[in-house]
Amino acid sequence: MGEKKQKEIVVISGKGGTGKTSLTACFAALAKKAVTCDCDVDAADLHLVLSPTVKDRGLFSGGVTAEIDQEKCIRCGKCKDACRFSAIEIKEKKFYIDPLACEGCGVCKLVCPAGAVKTKPAINGEWFVSETRFGPMSHAKLGIAEENSGRLVTLVRQKASGLSSNETGGRIISDGAPGTGCPVIASLTGVNYALVVTEPTVSGLHDMERILDVTEHFRVPSGVVVNKYDLNLEMTDKIKEIVKRRGGISYMGEIPYDKNVTLAQMQRMSLVEYGKGKALESVKQIWEKIRAQEDL
Ligand code: SF4
Ligand code: SF4
Repeated sequence: MGEKKQKEIVVISGKGGTGKTSLTACFAALAKKAVTCDCDVDAADLHLVLSPTVKDRGLFSGGVTAEIDQEKCIRCGKCKDACRFSAIEIKEKKFYIDPLACEGCGVCKLVCPAGAVKTKPAINGEWFVSETRFGPMSHAKLGIAEENSGRLVTLVRQKASGLSSNETGGRIISDGAPGTGCPVIASLTGVNYALVVTEPTVSGLHDMERILDVTEHFRVPSGVVVNKYDLNLEMTDKIKEIVKRRGGISYMGEIPYDKNVTLAQMQRMSLVEYGKGKALESVKQIWEKIRAQEDL
């Protein structure tokens, strides 16, 4: 692979549905060659636009789960008393562990006098390394009702880093996890640049401020984009003003509401490939600004 200079940018938002995935796909198309990475493992949908061909895959285990061996169990109930997550239930005088409620803490195994509790790795999801028309892609699928998505995000980013090469210009473009919790922190730490996408609403403004608190805390250089800015010009101005007042964060521009974004998605294309619509020029300008600023 040779020597590589890695540059990782992540597109994030305080909540899902702000258009960050569409924007990530556009950036992948504009970069032409880059590693793409879908860190939104709870609601992964970048693959719907990039149509990856899976080259490698594996199971992800983010913890353990416990199980009772009915042959060994002497029905003393010590495990049930000790379980803080109420994961142990009694059915027809037998003790069972509810796999959905079990947090894998292992306390039941410690207190069991009969050695009847076994713990085993819990399979929480699956990771994929794929090829797309824009270069390699790292992505994953988290199991239904599964947690530990922060650890899966870290794994997906490690795989993306492994795919990075001179051929892709060392560029990694990530669709970040939404929100401000563990998965978004896992998407953000150590990246070169975070682009925060927001919408001109009261909740959009509030979410943007919360996510900027996170990027500032982790000292990640950040910029803000207002998507569908023309739906509320007054609120867009307010967001711009707040970004300026915070200092240290660049206001990267605005994208107008454009139904072509949805039409492109329906054809499994990025807006860049779809090639029309008033949002397109804004997206291109924002990408150029990021490139110029981050030497991408
Ligand atoms: S491993 Fe922990 S959470 Fe799971 S059943 Fe045992 S005590 Fe409860
Ligand atoms: S502590 Fe062990 S022996 Fe007692 S009920 Fe639970 S599994 Fe059975």
